[in-house]
Amino acid sequence: MQKIFLAALFFIFIFASASFAGAVEVTSLLERQGKNDTALLIGATEEQKAKFIPDGEVKSQILAFYVKVPGREILFDTGLKNGNIIKRLEENGVKNSDVKTIFLTHLHPDHFGGLVGGDNQAAFPNAEIYVSRIERDYWVNELKNENVIKALNLYKDKIHVFEFGDEIFNGIKALDASGHTPGHTVFDIKIDGEELLIVGDIMHFIEIQLPVPDVAVKYDVDPVQAVKSRKKILDYAAENKIKIAGMHIQEPGIIKVKKVNDGYEKITDDNAGKKVYFAGPMFCQAEKDYNLKIANILEKHGYKVFLPQRDGFEAAMLEGKTEEELTKMIFEKDVSEIRKADILFMNLDGRVPDEGACIELGIAYAENKRCYGMKTDTRSAELILDLNPMIAGCFKKIFRNFDGEALIKELENYLEKNSL
Ligand SMILES: [Zn+2]
Repeated sequence: MQKIFLAALFFIFIFASASFAGAVEVTSLLERQGKNDTALLIGATEEQKAKFIPDGEVKSQILAFYVKVPGREILFDTGLKNGNIIKRLEENGVKNSDVKTIFLTHLHPDHFGGLVGGDNQAAFPNAEIYVSRIERDYWVNELKNENVIKALNLYKDKIHVFEFGDEIFNGIKALDASGHTPGHTVFDIKIDGEELLIVGDIMHFIEIQLPVPDVAVKYDVDPVQAVKSRKKILDYAAENKIKIAGMHIQEPGIIKVKKVNDGYEKITDDNAGKKVYFAGPMFCQAEKDYNLKIANILEKHGYKVFLPQRDGFEAAMLEGKTEEELTKMIFEKDVSEIRKADILFMNLDGRVPDEGACIELGIAYAENKRCYGMKTDTRSAELILDLNPMIAGCFKKIFRNFDGEALIKELENYLEKNSL
């Protein structure tokens, strides 16, 4: 009886502890896409328009973001009234009633509109809403905007206001990005060494506002201040190589930028050349096929992959060697490749992990490589035996799904939006 109890406790402990792996996970939610004409732009010369918008139309899109950080999930902005954000959340396994926390970058209808459900009730009945005090006061007290007042009234005492500079939750800070609107806020999420900026409407049309950041738009309440805020936020993101998620950046809406001349450029391939040591065993055909698939996905995203059993020694080179010589050769080669890598990616299938994997992980972890694991094995669950929490703790993130094909999809989806 006691044994069963201990085993059950162990099971709960291991599974609960595994969920802490990974820090900031972001999902883009597309409200809609379309096109706009260049008459919306302020301060763009004809020459600049011809150069950066050759077909005379700028791409427009509206996004919201759902961000998971340890212990909390936050919806950033809500899209339009009667829009698609709730549908997008459902596609990602989140019901509107699951949403507990909503942060608003500002109070334009494409950002707060989704707070109102089709029946004019609160679309997110269990959510607490966070918005800048300056922003709330501007729309509610100064402009007396009826739509804003109605939407916020649906949430009454669940509306929380903050000041610029406030750390709203641990690791999540409100930055002054005023100009577009008086209380326009950028949220700086900085947790466990990862950082992401939710930049709201710091840019509407990146094709011209990145190369020419002085270009403003007619929606800006104070275009001069909007330009200053854009440059301040983009400078910070470029200098620190931080990802930004913007509500009007082309889907998935998450980019990195670098400084060029008087403006900025999108960094398109920031994984290029990053070396991954992929500890994926290939001892039987099924294992081999599966791990080659994973290696291909990593390579497709620009990573340079070293897979020991594929990229190590040719069989001919190992012929006639004693067991001791073989161990030495292979071990030395693998260790030198781990040392050269930026990232360790480890398939933890069927292993707890074994001695070899522990050595690989130990070296990578000790040398501050970013370690990622993946696990599909059901056997460990049946045996009430999962990863040792100390081993699990070495990984920045562990991808896990008992269905191997679903796990591949999950990994691909993650790599579309995130860098390892
Ligand atoms: Zn907007």
